[in-house]
Amino acid sequence: MLKIEHLGIAVKSLADAIPLYEQLLNTPCYKTEEVVTEGVNTAFFATGDAKIELLEATKNDSPIAKFIDKKGPGIHHVAFEVENIEAEMKRLQALGFELLNEIPKNGADNKLVCFLHPKTTGGVLVELCQEKK
Ligand code: ZN
Repeated sequence: MLKIEHLGIAVKSLADAIPLYEQLLNTPCYKTEEVVTEGVNTAFFATGDAKIELLEATKNDSPIAKFIDKKGPGIHHVAFEVENIEAEMKRLQALGFELLNEIPKNGADNKLVCFLHPKTTGGVLVELCQEKK
């Protein structure tokens, strides 16, 4: 894996969280994007090599709504950038890691993504992401 690409943080409301993180990070939100298939609105901040991605649910059965119901707002996932997502998925699956999607899907910010089940990663939801070429 190349680096931590971003940290995903679940929030109740982007309208509240964006100004908070702009103050905290002292940098403006540079992009917001809805990922309809995931039921989320996202907002991105540049912090050195790794970004911060805020995630707000757009519907009640969104994974983010379920996460917030269970655990409250907070760190949701760690995303690692990979060069070849399919090769990395195969490598991890062969080692016993459980993939939440069998084929790469479209994520925010021009990425192909795959999530790994937290029960096989020590409790952390891990996202693999590869820049779409
Ligand atoms: Zn993410």
